[in-house]
Amino acid sequence: MIYLDNNATTPLDPKVQIRMTEFLKEYFGNPSSLYPIGRAVKEIITESRDAIAGALGAKRTEIIFTGSGTEADNFAILGVMDAMPEKKEFITSTIEHPAVLETAHYLEKKGVKVTFIPVDNTGLIDMDRLQKAISDNTALISIMHANNELGTIQPIQEVVKMGKEKGVLVHTDAVQTFGKIDLNVDDLGVDLLSVSAHKIYGPKGIGALYVRKGTNIMPFIHGGHQEGLMRAGTENTIGIVGFGEAVKIVQEKGEKDKKRIAKLADMMKKGIEEKIPRVKFNGHETDRIMGTLNYSFLGLEAEAILLALATKDIYVSTGSACSEDSEEVSHVLSAIGLKPEIARSSLRISLGRFNKEEDIHVVLRELPEIVRKLREISGLEIRDA
Ligand code: PLP
Repeated sequence: MIYLDNNATTPLDPKVQIRMTEFLKEYFGNPSSLYPIGRAVKEIITESRDAIAGALGAKRTEIIFTGSGTEADNFAILGVMDAMPEKKEFITSTIEHPAVLETAHYLEKKGVKVTFIPVDNTGLIDMDRLQKAISDNTALISIMHANNELGTIQPIQEVVKMGKEKGVLVHTDAVQTFGKIDLNVDDLGVDLLSVSAHKIYGPKGIGALYVRKGTNIMPFIHGGHQEGLMRAGTENTIGIVGFGEAVKIVQEKGEKDKKRIAKLADMMKKGIEEKIPRVKFNGHETDRIMGTLNYSFLGLEAEAILLALATKDIYVSTGSACSEDSEEVSHVLSAIGLKPEIARSSLRISLGRFNKEEDIHVVLRELPEIVRKLREISGLEIRDA
């Protein structure tokens, strides 16, 4: 199998699997219990929290475990808006993940004025529009760090600078950058930042929200005293253990992975552009998470290419996993100005830790042939010639 959909999810790292299995066998205590089997689990949770805090340059107490990256985004946005009911404005972008977009729509229904900042044809947000949108009534700006479909990385430090000038809090959804590029909450300057374990070879169903000390935010789940009273409920201990281990591995071998993935993606990019006529690269050439490649194969339905690749055991995506089963065109590709038929011809290839050079060679052998045949069937090959 050649798995090239690492932005949708990543396979569990074997070391994470071992750690989780060992934990499951040995530990069942409730971390809130005061006797040793409870305390032991509490300590392990603290280790994981420290690993995540360390990777982000944050403090232990600033990390809150959540049930997913989606929950972290919901928590950040709703928690801040709830804490400042007198401020009735929220700013985000048109290319956010549904975890943020749908939360924004929910806020609109509750009477909040939401401004969706547009992006240019590479996926970068319009900073002038952002500047104009910020008012004394704005409580929060939420701009994703990198986009899941294009990989385009936003200038978050500049967003923070603009926000700070008006005393506005800034959240970033860093689900796609955590583990892929170096992140430091102080360098970025953000007040809140979301991450998720299953994008970094950890388990699904566990995420975390970084909340800068002193940030005005309401608890998200009410109940017991877990997670500093911010997110009640007995902890997803197995998920937290896996998340912590996944982060430790990123810290140990992340640099090597990053260089290798960038090199492989570059090979893939050059190969696609050389071997396949009438392709259009979508995204930013340089301000991008390097392992993410998005191409339109003009004249074709991307789904046909995806299915043909799947018969060869090669897995890519036509957009975000969440919008895959919907008829609609990707909101991200629409936002960068692609016409619906071009958006529908677009594939995302996202590389990861377990891809090998041989995978790239296989794709560069199979994909041009698939595209050629599909164009031949639809009569497009003749026009290309
Ligand atoms: N934000 C971004 C940018 C994502 O890519 C994803 C996952 O696809 C999420 C949020 C949601 O994370 P989770 O799957 O952990 O809910």
